[in-house]
Order: sequence, then C-alpha cells, then structure tokens
Amino acid sequence: MTTNEELFERARSRIPGGVNSPVRAFGAVGGTPVLFREGRGSRVVTADGRELVDLVGSWGPLIVGHAHPEVVAADSRALERGTSFGAPTDAEIDLAELVADRVPSIEKLRLMSSGTEACMTAIRLARGATGRDRVIKFAGHYHGHSDSFLIQAGSGALTLGVPSSPGVPEAIASRTHLARFNDSASVEALLDAFPGEFAAIIVEPVAGNMGTVPPEPGFLEDLRALATRHGTLLVFDEVMTGFRVARGGAQERFNVDPDLTTLAKVLGGGLPMGAVGGPAELLDQLAPVGPIYQAGTLSGNPLATAAGIATLRLLDAPGTYDLLEARGARLEAGIRPALRELSIPACYQRVGSMATLFFLEGPVRSLDSLAGLDASIYSRFFHAMLERGVYLPPSQYEAFFLSTAHTEADIDLIVDAARASLAEIAVRGR
Ligand code: PMP
Repeated sequence: MTTNEELFERARSRIPGGVNSPVRAFGAVGGTPVLFREGRGSRVVTADGRELVDLVGSWGPLIVGHAHPEVVAADSRALERGTSFGAPTDAEIDLAELVADRVPSIEKLRLMSSGTEACMTAIRLARGATGRDRVIKFAGHYHGHSDSFLIQAGSGALTLGVPSSPGVPEAIASRTHLARFNDSASVEALLDAFPGEFAAIIVEPVAGNMGTVPPEPGFLEDLRALATRHGTLLVFDEVMTGFRVARGGAQERFNVDPDLTTLAKVLGGGLPMGAVGGPAELLDQLAPVGPIYQAGTLSGNPLATAAGIATLRLLDAPGTYDLLEARGARLEAGIRPALRELSIPACYQRVGSMATLFFLEGPVRSLDSLAGLDASIYSRFFHAMLERGVYLPPSQYEAFFLSTAHTEADIDLIVDAARASLAEIAVRGR
C-alpha cells in the first residue's frame, strides 16, 4: 500500500504545498498532512487505513456527519437526473424557501458556490446599494479570500502569519478598515472618522476563524444600532454559524437582525454552496432585476442544492439543536476539569457545537487577547490527539465542530484522549 508520506510527496509535486487550501498543510502544527479516503458519521478513514474520530467535519458543513444516508440518497437521485443545467430548477426554489423559513431577516437570497463568493457579493451589494466604498471588518475575522477581506484575516491567513497578501491592490485594501471584536467603541470611532463613507460592517457574529470567540452581551446590539444610525449596512457572515449555533443561526441565538446575511458550509451539506440573503428591496438590486452584477455557471447546482435541502430537513428532527448543545456541553465538561487538575493555563470557549481550547488563560475576547499565545502547545496537543485517534483542526486558531453523528461514546472517547494528551503535555512542558 502507498503510505501517507508517499502520497503527500506526489501531491507536493503537482499541487502548491500539496494542498488545495492552505490550512490543510499542517503548517501550524508541523508534520505531514493526513490524507483521507472516506468518512462515515463521526469517523474518517485515512489513506493508510486508520480510523479517526473527526472534529473538523470539513470545517463546519458536515453537521449531520459524513455520508449521511439521506444526504447520499438525495444526491444520488440528483446525480441521476443530471449534474448541472445552467437554468432554474425547482430544487433551488425549495432551498430558498427553506432558508427564508429559518432566517426571518432573509426575504430573498441568491445562491452561489462558496462562502468567499457570498461575502464578496454581499460587499459589492452593500457598496452598490449605498453608493459608498469603505467597509469595516474585525481583526482576526475571515470572510473568504477576495481582495477586500485579506486584511488581518483569520483562519489560514492567521495561521500562516500572513495578515494581508501580495496581489491585493493597495487601493482596495485602503477601503477596508479594521475594528476590534467585542469593542463597539472601535467601530464608532471609525464611523465618526469617515462620516457617510461606510457601506458595510461585516462581522462573524460568533468568531470562528481566530478560534471560537462569542460576542459579549450587547455587542451585536451595539453594531445594529451604530449601523442604523450611520446608514451603513450590517452584514452577518453566518458561513460558519448559519444553521449551526441555532436553527436560524447566530441572529436567532442572539436575537439581532442584520441587513444582509452570508451563508455557506451547512447550507450545501458538504457540497460547494454559498448564498447572500436579505430584504427583497436589497436583493432585487442584483442583476437581472437591478444593476449590481453577480453570476455563476454552477450557481444553485443541483447536487449542492439536493445535499443542502436534505441536510436542512434532517436538522428539523425534534431535539436536534438540544442534542448538538448537549454534545458540546459534554465535551466541555470532560475537558475543563482535566485542565484544572493538570494546572494547564487554558480556556475553553464554546457556542453550541463549536468550540476552541485556547492554550492561554483567557478569556479570548478579540484578536488582541491572542498576543503572547504559544501556539506550539496546541501543536503538541494536536499530535498527541492524532496518535490517540482523534482528528482536531490542524491549527490553534480554528474551531472544533461536532455533528449529530457524534454519540456520547464518541465524546467520551475524545475526552479520554484529551485527558491523556493533556497529561502528556503537562509532563513534557515542565
Ligand atoms: N466566512 C466565514 C465565516 C468562513 O468561516 C469561511 C470559510 N471558512 C468563509 C467565509 C469562506 O468560505 P469558503 O471557504 O466556502 O469560500
């Protein structure tokens, strides 16, 4: 059998860094990326035949687990009917209705193929609708890799220490202003400094791309009030939180409505999908009704649409969000005492089924809180967990994602592995 190392060598000779998205490269934790061959429920099987409990879930989409039989069946039927038409289909209408039913701030939505596209479109729409150029984003937040957002971005950009990127024109970067998450005064200062110039404030309502950082009480409400007062559109990037932290996303959980919402991940049930949604009055400014251009050959793709519909319907089973909450709480309740017993300086931050174990005292409120974090502790934890059969995100600055496929026994297995791994780290750290 070809070993993982041999496969990755092949990958590296034809694909930059051997990966098709940077954070997969293990740059933050060291070692050779593990290639996956298949996944079922809460488990993945690696190319060299090891079974791992997966806490990445494709970085969020797989909220019902890998290869859920109903998602597979829905996609198999769609596959047989034809993979793409470049024409409207009834399934797209079904998905749009399912989304609008769950997220009341969304009256209309446009489907596309990724979260990057969704956020790029939301900002173009905000700029076009307001006639303003400037945008506020938060340090450490990630909204995909389009030009306006690669300014102190989180996720891979944070992991790799690339706060901005060559190739992003200065003229575009200078239109993106950085504020501090959980600090509405930093937003107000920007709005006051450039009156009438901000098209949008874009925020991950629960930050996930610098690790899991919940909004403090009142923060999202402050953003809502500031945006309204300044005629600026409030965009919730719910690519990660949508249909995860509640049936209606973070806006339901925290009871604050944005003007525009971006969605992806769970929306596509593991296939490429993204969307921008909001009031008809705004969405109808997109072509063909309005002048703001947006398009896509594979937008509303039948396979992605079928997987998204199947996933959203599965999430409607009674008690689903209570179950996700309970699994998240069980993992937290298992890990916290181990940290205390071993006197490891760390904080565990969780919102429902997404969480991060930060190896610093905390709490983590914004990107600033992460200054001085020794990411090498997480690297040792990551590899110790991998040895024990648990696949964590290969970076400190990401979230663990649980699914409805994770059983109590899976959680207990993860907790046991974590206790042993943390004990190993505590001994070696002395
Ligand atoms: N926004 C957020 C909050 C995300 O987490 C991500 C991806 N991790 C994106 C946007 C970009 O989505 P995609 O990778 O589908 O382009």
